[in-house]
Amino acid sequence: MLQEQEALAAPMERTFIAIKPDGVQRGVMSEIITRFERKGFKLVGIKIMIPSKDFAGKHYHDLKERPFYKGLCNFLSSGPVIAMVWEGEGVIRYGRKLIGATDPQKSEPGTIRGDLAVSVGRNIIHGSDGPETAKDEIALWFKPEELVTYTSNAEKWIYEN
Ligand code: UDP
Ligand code: MG
Repeated sequence: MLQEQEALAAPMERTFIAIKPDGVQRGVMSEIITRFERKGFKLVGIKIMIPSKDFAGKHYHDLKERPFYKGLCNFLSSGPVIAMVWEGEGVIRYGRKLIGATDPQKSEPGTIRGDLAVSVGRNIIHGSDGPETAKDEIALWFKPEELVTYTSNAEKWIYEN
């Protein structure tokens, strides 16, 4: 019983997923959303925005020293991005699996990048790489009140309890 209460009280894991400008322009946003949705993950936040270069720099701050950093930030702010928060058991790690390896040449077929992208600088999607980054990225892109807490009718068919 106590365990049950704790499980109910424990907030479900959340991750930050973004469809980058290339994914939006190529018309694959619904395909990407569908893959997360069909897996059984729950969408709790979504918006479209054009991030400024400064904002893109904050998002990719850990890559500041890399030679591709400036081009990457310019690219992220070159058009609309779909910013999302997805929720579910293991969503951070499994979201990365759905996305595939950073370089689409190395992403497995069946993954988003493996199926839909060709080059590393145009790999259409971002996903948080761990619990700390997920927390930071969600806080950077969303205000708490932009995230929705709700029970999906499908949950009892997705989780054992
Ligand atoms: N990137 C790039 N050239 C590289 C490595 C990465 O343009 O040699 C870009 C690529 O778009 C990638 C992003 O920088 O998605 C962030 O890099 P990271 O290593 O965090 O990969 P990710 O977490 O997106 O798989
Ligand atoms: Mg990364």
